Amino acid sequence: MDGWSRAYRACQNCGTTRRSHVAKGYCGLCLRQMRAIWNAEQWNRRRRETLKGVPTSGFSYKHGRHRLATDSMDAETFERFRAAYIAESKRILSVLKSRERYWLDEKIDGLDVEYQLRHIARLIRPRNRRAFYGRASSLRRRFGAQGLVALAQLLDELETLFPWQRSWGNIYEQTYATDAPDSP
Ligand SMILES: [Zn+2]
Repeated sequence: MDGWSRAYRACQNCGTTRRSHVAKGYCGLCLRQMRAIWNAEQWNRRRRETLKGVPTSGFSYKHGRHRLATDSMDAETFERFRAAYIAESKRILSVLKSRERYWLDEKIDGLDVEYQLRHIARLIRPRNRRAFYGRASSLRRRFGAQGLVALAQLLDELETLFPWQRSWGNIYEQTYATDAPDSP
């Protein structure tokens, strides 16, 4: 059997062989998250050029450059932001890994497909939070075991068309979570 790349049989995170190898044993989607983690591990506030991936926050006319979201954080908050940013990348990596099982001959249940439908519906219409809830048993009935696999794969392809964005909501929530009990 041909290897996926010279040194790896499959993506070191998600296990895919469908997407091609990009670098360091990862497919492109996983590599992007790994790079985000590696960058965040190197962040050093005294060296601004290391703060790759930190979002900008307005523009400083005094210095003629973009302010970064981390500029106003104290050291402790900055470390929580770093940890939360890494945790969010890890969360995306685990989603990518769990999605790959639709392609690995594993059994797919109606509930798996219901979750896919719910997720796609939220991407399209975020405010309709209950769309496609409670569909698992009817999906099982209508599609059967093999039909569910085919459906799950189609929906996975559809989900892959959405750009992968880290959730800044998650990151800021985790950054400031421990402050909550102290605030009035
Ligand atoms: Zn991967």
